[in-house]
Amino acid sequence: MAESLSDSGPVFYGGRGVFDGTAMRPGHGVLVDAGRVLAVGPAEELAGDGVLVDDLGGGLVVPGFVDAHTHVTIRPGEGDQHGQLAKSAVWQTIRGVENLRRMLQSGVTTARIMTESHDIDYEFRDAIARGEVAGPRLLVAGPGLSPPGGHGSGNGGVAGVGPLRAAVRERAERGADHIKIFTTGGVSSVGSALAESNYSGEEIAAIVDEAAEVGLKVSSHAHGGPGVDLAVANGILSIEHGALLSEQNIAAMAEHNTWLVQTNTILFHPEGIEQGDARVPQIITKVMEARGFVEANVHKVRDAGIRFAVGTDSMHGLFGYELVWLVEHGWPPLDALVAATRRGGELLGLSDVGVLGAGSRADFVVLPDDPLADITAVQRVAAVYVAGRQVATSAGGVRPQAPAVAVAG
Ligand SMILES: [Zn+2]
Repeated sequence: MAESLSDSGPVFYGGRGVFDGTAMRPGHGVLVDAGRVLAVGPAEELAGDGVLVDDLGGGLVVPGFVDAHTHVTIRPGEGDQHGQLAKSAVWQTIRGVENLRRMLQSGVTTARIMTESHDIDYEFRDAIARGEVAGPRLLVAGPGLSPPGGHGSGNGGVAGVGPLRAAVRERAERGADHIKIFTTGGVSSVGSALAESNYSGEEIAAIVDEAAEVGLKVSSHAHGGPGVDLAVANGILSIEHGALLSEQNIAAMAEHNTWLVQTNTILFHPEGIEQGDARVPQIITKVMEARGFVEANVHKVRDAGIRFAVGTDSMHGLFGYELVWLVEHGWPPLDALVAATRRGGELLGLSDVGVLGAGSRADFVVLPDDPLADITAVQRVAAVYVAGRQVATSAGGVRPQAPAVAVAG
């Protein structure tokens, strides 16, 4: 695979076929120029005069994956995630560089970052865009909002309508792409309840209203109970995790067209919370309870038609596990693949991400096999392209995107 074909005019990437974010198109390839897709179609139509052809060797092209909920600096398998977020900026930066490489190698080309400290997410986002650091395109929230002492309040808690409005405004001015709040406790902390609400309906409404004034959407970490219902009723874009959703929660989400972002790798993978917090019985008890709920609910939320995306929640390099888990639990491979691509782009408000078609970003992954026939193919990423440029291969090579890659539009 040539390295910089896309710098020199249109390139046709041809392999076994293309999954365009909605359906499989056997025998098609992707025509790319200046970081964008010009068209998806057969070589006979698209690989004409003046077009360079990059033979993907029988590989299958899918849109770059969207990790809809993750963090740059955390490694759950090491335990005490809140302690990790309290470490020094230098410590976090060193680990962030490697975590971002792993994300890219697993085929994640866009990621939504859901809380960091030290402004590290803003800095990494911009450094990646400048081509200085290898990693997926990031959409960042800065520090998430939680009341003092609540799960996720390590950066200092915020409560009350006035201070919350100010906090939203401050994040927007710093350049946040979205706002993250915590309306329930978490699985990975001791003593935080999973089904109470951290914030009142009035507080959540104020956050959503203030964010809307600066053009931002709000997502809420919430597992179940009133913390979900109040968030949903007050205009939250998405519920994050939703590990203990009740029938009532699911019905409310369906009624309000609220997104659900499940994060099953951190919850089920043996190297997730299970490994990191193995010696904290209160946390392991929460993990076991949450697993039972999620396994029962993953069908209910699909049957209810809830819009659905997936995130690894810091399980860097293991994105494919999210899809394998869904299929192992009865989802059709097509639905899992759509959740990982087009749905992710829709959640982020990016119509040119998670899809491959005329005008979309040329962010794509080459797989050796058809994931609709065998979903584990998504765990065998052969190569990753961002804006039409190869940035990672299975051989281990990873590099930044082109410096200041100015993708038109
Ligand atoms: Zn998270």
